[in-house]
Amino acid sequence: MKQNETLSFIKANNLSNLIFDDLEFTSKTPLRDDAFEMCDDEKIKLISEHFSKIMHILGLDLNDDSLKDSPARIAKMYVKEYFSGLDPKNKPYLTLFKNKYNYKQMVIEKDISFYSNCEHHFVPFMGKAHIGYISNGEVVGLSKLNRIVDYFAKRPQVQERMTIQIANELKDSLKTEDIAVVLEAKHLCVSSRGIKDDTSITTTSALFGKFLDMDTRSEFIRLIEKKH
Ligand SMILES: [Zn+2]
Repeated sequence: MKQNETLSFIKANNLSNLIFDDLEFTSKTPLRDDAFEMCDDEKIKLISEHFSKIMHILGLDLNDDSLKDSPARIAKMYVKEYFSGLDPKNKPYLTLFKNKYNYKQMVIEKDISFYSNCEHHFVPFMGKAHIGYISNGEVVGLSKLNRIVDYFAKRPQVQERMTIQIANELKDSLKTEDIAVVLEAKHLCVSSRGIKDDTSITTTSALFGKFLDMDTRSEFIRLIEKKH
């Protein structure tokens, strides 16, 4: 399904909100209590050693010039880039501004690109996030919305959870329930292996507050569908 078709499908079938029995519980990334007792450098060292073993078991010659630095490179990429959003110390700080111009309509930032990794296969999924909110007296610098998306993308993830984590974070930071988040993504674990479907796109959404009203919801969907 193309982007427009997917969104129309959601609209037509009234699927615009994920409902979970326990939103708080399902939205948490399962981390151990001791997750950050070890420093980044120590993690990189250990992951590098373990990845060498994986490559060795696969039969690769780690003395080869092209391969010898891969374990350390991958370990560093995991800790400092791909999975840096696990660590709360990397969470972006949201600066809020007084909504002096008294803007009371929805603010939408759409087509925010993101790259994440599926926690079931540890291969990438990537796509676009669309965010809407209605100010509760304060507004946020727009690039901060990109940073929030990026922070939650940089974890082993499932798309449904990532959608809710972004929405919950925005509810907390912007002190409003009036938040909408839609994610559309292509999953390499679906396209490059298994069923090998190269065209399917997964859409998830989490709408809260005024975005649950039919009119507001429709306006949001219409605006994120609109081409430039
Ligand atoms: Zn997967």
